[in-house]
Amino acid sequence: MRLRNIKGADEAIENSEYCIKNPESLKGNWQSVFPSSQPLHIEVGMGKGRFIMDLAAANPDINYIGIERYTSVLYRAVQKMELTPLPNLRFLCIDAATLPDVFAPEEVARIYLNFSDPWPKDRHAKRRLTSREFFARYNQILAKDGRVEFKTDNQDLFTFSLEEIPEAGWNLVASTRDLHHDPVLNEGNIMTEYEEKFSSKGNPICKLIANR
Ligand code: SAM
Repeated sequence: MRLRNIKGADEAIENSEYCIKNPESLKGNWQSVFPSSQPLHIEVGMGKGRFIMDLAAANPDINYIGIERYTSVLYRAVQKMELTPLPNLRFLCIDAATLPDVFAPEEVARIYLNFSDPWPKDRHAKRRLTSREFFARYNQILAKDGRVEFKTDNQDLFTFSLEEIPEAGWNLVASTRDLHHDPVLNEGNIMTEYEEKFSSKGNPICKLIANR
């Protein structure tokens, strides 16, 4: 994701009715920000929001929170929401390392990770969103029957993620290294911005689903 400072992004997010401020105060009470009480799914590292906006539009019976660390990126999603508001979607500008401060145990029913930053240096492995350290954070907020769904075109990151699942005490439910040619896992697939970009270059897309 290109990280240019975008003029006005911080202020727009501060003032946006779609971006949640003081998220720690909502811990255990996230349903109060939505018109209907229904399962809560989150995307961590949502970028400009294409995936979660399409998902929220297709599933009005689920509430969604899109999480993105940088205001300059989140700003693009906020602009799209202003044009096409979705009652079941809100945004959060935080570092995912703080997820357990923001969501109560079992408050989240599903976590999506799409094209997460690879952090290729070994010494940065803990920062990968599919590291055992991050699975421990997801463990603190995910419902017992909840799951994590992860997509990437980065083969090394995918191999790392497959290895981290048992190390974290989780189970691999399903996986493929060629999602777009997998009739079962590709059913109903919603493309992300990065997925569109990398698959159009010919990169196969990998996907895994993990639970406990
Ligand atoms: N998910 C989008 C897609 O598939 O098109 C964007 C992918 S982009 C490579 C990864 C995004 O995750 C970036 O916007 C980055 O800022 C965000 N991100 C990475 N680490 C994060 C973290 N710890 N907390 C929140 N967002 C994070």
